[in-house]
Amino acid sequence: MKIVHAASELFPFVKTGGLADAAAALSQSLARQGNPVAVFLPGYRAVLEHPRVREKARKAITLGIEMDDQFHHGEVLEVGLEKNLTLYLVCRDEFFDRRHPYGVGGRDYEDNGERFLFFAKAVVEALSQLRLKADIVHCHDWQTAMIPLLLRYEERRRSAVLAGRTLLTIHNLAFQGIFPMRLFPLTNLPEELRGMDGLEYYGQINYLKAGILFSDSVTTVSPTYGKEILTPEFGCGLEGVLKTRKEDLFCQVNGIDTGLWNPADDPHLPAAYGPEDLSGKSRCQEKLLKQTGLKPKGKGPVYGMICRFTPQKGLELIRANGGFFAKRDCRLVVLGSGGEEDERWFKELAAAHPGKISVNTGMNEALSHLIEAGADFFLMPSTFEPCGLNQMYSMRYGTVPLVSRVGGLADTVTDIGRDPEEGTGILFPPTAEGLAEGLSRSLDLYADRPAMERAIRNGMSRDLSWDNAAAAYLRHYESLL
Ligand code: ADP
Repeated sequence: MKIVHAASELFPFVKTGGLADAAAALSQSLARQGNPVAVFLPGYRAVLEHPRVREKARKAITLGIEMDDQFHHGEVLEVGLEKNLTLYLVCRDEFFDRRHPYGVGGRDYEDNGERFLFFAKAVVEALSQLRLKADIVHCHDWQTAMIPLLLRYEERRRSAVLAGRTLLTIHNLAFQGIFPMRLFPLTNLPEELRGMDGLEYYGQINYLKAGILFSDSVTTVSPTYGKEILTPEFGCGLEGVLKTRKEDLFCQVNGIDTGLWNPADDPHLPAAYGPEDLSGKSRCQEKLLKQTGLKPKGKGPVYGMICRFTPQKGLELIRANGGFFAKRDCRLVVLGSGGEEDERWFKELAAAHPGKISVNTGMNEALSHLIEAGADFFLMPSTFEPCGLNQMYSMRYGTVPLVSRVGGLADTVTDIGRDPEEGTGILFPPTAEGLAEGLSRSLDLYADRPAMERAIRNGMSRDLSWDNAAAAYLRHYESLL
């Protein structure tokens, strides 16, 4: 089956969150299962500077993209990544030659509406010029959500078939791509799509809404999140629109790249380990504590946390429980980036408790692996979580997840209280009191070594690989054709 993916992030070229990991691992897994896969990505500066791109990129086509009454030029570069897997980079310096994909200093670029509309139109144009004849065009999040509609409209205009079925995966409904109505003419879509049955959303336009309405299938990244987003509490204002597609909603939990995230063979770690011999994990902990300036000795556990600093990740809950980390016999190491206010609060907490709390900012792939390996518990008190990857990385690394019972966290972690034999972690309600209770349970578990080791081994022996998830996507693609 010929498959096209369009995404705004792709590991290892550009990443701000789980989308990059999921898009990369899914496309790779589908390619390795024998399907020709093309992935479209904006040609951001960091991507063009990546050694694999610099070495191999060649120009594939020139673009002339109509946006209102202007033509915007650009080009598409082609990079062969591996057998069956080709990366296409949509380039136009004005839009993508920037240091960050979406914005700087916690603020979005003002022209994101134009940038990702250009990207979506460029993908449609490339499908035609490159004659990819894709059976499936799989789009990810709002940045690519306009593609299904633009594709069908273009087909009608040209009386030609450009691709088979379209899918939109919602990795996070909180980001929708909402822009002023004055951008509507840039779409060159017919006027009837300006209204409520089209792009309109409270007087503005909403790219994700267009994707939900006009793709052949809408998918989410976990069954619980798939149910949650149909409610006002989690629907971010789109629950009504989503309900109209309820029958076509397909929910599939992401996998993880078990090659990149493998404690038995991880170049970022000082020692290898596996479920049968955990001694290497202690060496990872020693290195983590040393590197982050934490006290090497102490009876209590080490908590790890890696996230974007944003309310979704439950930072309010951590704030409310700051006293736990300050007073109890434990250490906390945080790696995060984003919100300045949260960063300041965490830094102050760390400064007030040297040796006990370490806060590290910026994107740091190597430290993220070391935290996954060196911590005893991985904290994820998210208020909502479409799927979440870190809880799966932590299970793979023998670090017990301590997570709120929402979305993909509820679907991937089994609570040791509910199932002492098979349990892999601790789940709690997404409230400050819930986290307090979860933290208290983690101390009890840590003190009970046999139970702790059982949870560790249960997590490590879970099959979290993409193979199953990719096979499920393939079956779903087939069902659409
Ligand atoms: P989300 O996509 O909502 O950010 P996920 O848990 O699904 O959350 O995925 C986050 C991904 O980004 C994980 O691979 C995580 O390790 C990584 N990550 C987040 N913040 C950082 C950081 N500061 N440095 C390195 N990796 C990070």
